[in-house]
Amino acid sequence: MLGVLLIGLFLPQVLSERGTPEDSRWLHYLNQIHTAVQRHSPPDSHNGTCFYRVLQEDLEPFRSGISRDLMQNVLSRKLGTHYQIINHRLYREEECMFSARCSGVEHFLLELLPNLPDMELVINVRDYPQVPSWMNPVIPIFSFSKTSDYNDIMYPAWTFWEGGPAVWPIYPTGLGRWDLMREDLKKAADLWPWEKKIPKGYFRGSRTSPDRDPLILLSRESPDLVDAEYTKNQAWKSERDTLGRPPAKEVPLVDHCTYKYLFNFRGVAASFRLKHLFLCGSLVFHVGDNWLEFFYNCLEPWVHYVPVSPDLEDLRELLQFVNENDEEVKKIAERGHKFIRQFLRMEDVSQYWGSLLTQYSQLLQYRVRKRKDYREVTVRSHHTEL
Ligand code: UDP
Repeated sequence: MLGVLLIGLFLPQVLSERGTPEDSRWLHYLNQIHTAVQRHSPPDSHNGTCFYRVLQEDLEPFRSGISRDLMQNVLSRKLGTHYQIINHRLYREEECMFSARCSGVEHFLLELLPNLPDMELVINVRDYPQVPSWMNPVIPIFSFSKTSDYNDIMYPAWTFWEGGPAVWPIYPTGLGRWDLMREDLKKAADLWPWEKKIPKGYFRGSRTSPDRDPLILLSRESPDLVDAEYTKNQAWKSERDTLGRPPAKEVPLVDHCTYKYLFNFRGVAASFRLKHLFLCGSLVFHVGDNWLEFFYNCLEPWVHYVPVSPDLEDLRELLQFVNENDEEVKKIAERGHKFIRQFLRMEDVSQYWGSLLTQYSQLLQYRVRKRKDYREVTVRSHHTEL
């Protein structure tokens, strides 16, 4: 606390000594950056304390144990796909709402099987979480994304392997293979170092949430500041779905790296785009902080990205600030880039799944019995579709 006060008192003086009169306009933002960076303690290893904290928080409501009755309660609600792991084999009920998503999840489960104890769990592969905080008793459901109003247990989304949104023609089989995307984005980032990037805000995506509208409108009003357009998605029916204009051409994530300031918004839940944007080495503008994936809370505003209020009220000012403080904000982009490169590798994702499932299994208070009508998921069946 004392440190924060000292920075607040000290910084205006330092800046006014070395800067121009305009600098004082940005003290508010610069103070926030310095305070955030000072407070931030980087994780010491790839399974750092931060990921660990998220996992503990998600499992907290179940500390007193998960009984057979509670699991029966979960299963009767049909909120997801029921998986069982018994004797290092994986079984699943037939029903899965999106088979490519189940497949993306199973990739990780199969890989981890040799080290996993017996357990059963319900995995929600829909976008939306299923356990509002008023629900009593709290039931264990695994979902990829939630807000603080939900008690779902977050798991690394299927899209790290496969089953992400199919975007024609750039991702016809669905956004996936994070390991390969990382390589492609690295090449794109090398081609477009900070100094070469176009100093403009950039966004391409569909209207999965109207929260994105103000940016599209700002782009129409001030194309010199922001280049943001709506593309089609599978639900597109008319130009109403692209805010009264024809849909824009889809642009692969690697080509976003040309721009200095990249925008992330929630969609139906958290958007898969966020992690990719960091790997461009661009400065990420993250709008709103409600919707989370398991790794979001390890990223900190002003340390790794620029936080933007959901109404985008401060956006013009923010864009001016970053333009006029290039060296300072470049460091934010570098920290964000470094975090995702170092700590969100495919092996980190697997490791998170492993720790999550191992700790979850310890909460089950009964012996899991294999359901007769369940089929085994094997590497082979996994590839040939269940
Ligand atoms: N996407 C893209 N280029 C486009 C349109 C979409 O790379 O021109 C990506 C986008 O980054 C996201 C995914 O496709 O990862 C789905 O985007 P959309 O905006 O449709 O939905 P979201 O999941 O963001 O709500």
